[in-house]
Order: sequence, then structure tokens, then C-alpha cells
Amino acid sequence: MIPFRIGTTSYILPDEILPNVRYLADKVRDIELVLFEVDDDLSNLPSAEVISQLAELARENDLTYTVHLPLDLRLGSHGQEGHRALIKARGVMERTRPLDPWAYVVHLDGINSGAQSAWVERSARALEQAADWAGDPAHIAVENLEGHAEGLIEPVLDRVAVSRCVDVGHLWADGLDPIPLIRKALPRTRVIHLHGIAERDHRSLLHVPPGRLNPVLECLLRGNYRGVVTMEVFNEEDFVSSQAVLERAMKKLWAKS
Ligand SMILES: [Zn+2]
Repeated sequence: MIPFRIGTTSYILPDEILPNVRYLADKVRDIELVLFEVDDDLSNLPSAEVISQLAELARENDLTYTVHLPLDLRLGSHGQEGHRALIKARGVMERTRPLDPWAYVVHLDGINSGAQSAWVERSARALEQAADWAGDPAHIAVENLEGHAEGLIEPVLDRVAVSRCVDVGHLWADGLDPIPLIRKALPRTRVIHLHGIAERDHRSLLHVPPGRLNPVLECLLRGNYRGVVTMEVFNEEDFVSSQAVLERAMKKLWAKS
């Protein structure tokens, strides 16, 4: 029995969220609802009616959801709390509340505007606001992105008791060894993202050499991790093969331990 909640994204079939969740419900234990916004009118935020169907599918199948917010969390450039990203975050949290999400996965906006200390301050305040809406700061999981300077988000995390989403694929893409970071971050981690890199990112775990993947899984087992592990891929072939790779790797690790 795999001790973590293995999951994947809400876009495995080329269809909307609900048919994807119906397809995945008996195959995974968590589904990452990937929300996006193209412009003000065009977003894929499910209607209240769809949300209640998603909640029912979760109850019937022992499923959880992680909700990926559509915009990078930020305050306005002068610290205003009325920034579009925050207003949007609030709307998403209110709509998805019946799902009692395992975590809201958030990105912090880029640091290219202004000094580091001001950015830390603004980011911490945006997270505090979001944590208020979520009802529990631990349910906000801040994700590391590709190209993040080492230690970039730590000063923000020192300020607010939010959780982490460790995206291992992004660390691999940056050529970093994820193990020291996972070990350090694990007590605060609610979500792990895994994906392979081929001709583009977010491909099957088939593209991750076992010598890279196995130490990560071993680290999670040793650390008694009980959170979500999302195979962050976006088509059926990558999903099915990633799941097979994970199961095979976990079986071997169990046999060893
Ligand atoms: Zn990710």
C-alpha cells in the first residue's frame, strides 16, 4: 500500500474537468484542479453545480483535490490588497470551499519589481490574506518554480505558517539535486509535484532515470510523508506510463525495506 496520496491533473483527457474527474476517480487519490484564466471572461472555474458533483465524486471515491490558483499571488505595486490576483484567489476559494481542498497551490509573483525586502513583505501579506480566506494557513501550499534563485521563498515562509508544494520536476529542470531541499522542506510539505522532461516539460515519469526518481521516493518514505504526490502530466499516455513507473519503483523500494 502506497502511503502517499498519488494524484494527477484534471487534464488527462482532452475534455473538461468533470469528465476527467469521472475518469480518474478510481485510479488516483487526489486530483489537481488546474485553473486558468485567459482573460477576464474566459476561465475554467467550475460552476457551483459542477463543484457539487465533484464533491460527491470525492466522497464516493476517497478522493481529495488540490486547487491550483490561476494567477500568481501578489499585492499591487503599492501594496494594495485589491490586486486582481487576490480578488481572483478569493473567488476561487469561495467557489471551491465545498471541496474542502487538501491544499491551494499558489505561486508568488516574480521578484523583478523592487527590492528583495519589499518583495518579501508584499508576498507575506498576500499569503496572510489568502490564508485568511482558506481558513487555515496550512492549506496554502507555496510552490517553487523553475529558475527560482536558491532560498528565494524561504524568507517569506519564515513569516507565514503556510505549507509548501515542492515541485521536484522544476528542481530537476534547474539541474539541482532535490534531496537536500525535500528533506528540509518535508515537515511543511503537503504536496509534491513530479514530472519528466523530454522535448518539453511536464511529460511522463518514463523520462526520469530511476537513479533520479528512486532517491526522491525513498526520501518521502523515510520521512513518513503522508501528503499528496501529483504526477503533473497532461495526457493519457503520460498518465498511464507515469503511474506504472511509480508503482514499479515503489514495489522495489518496499521489497528493499
Ligand atoms: Zn508544479
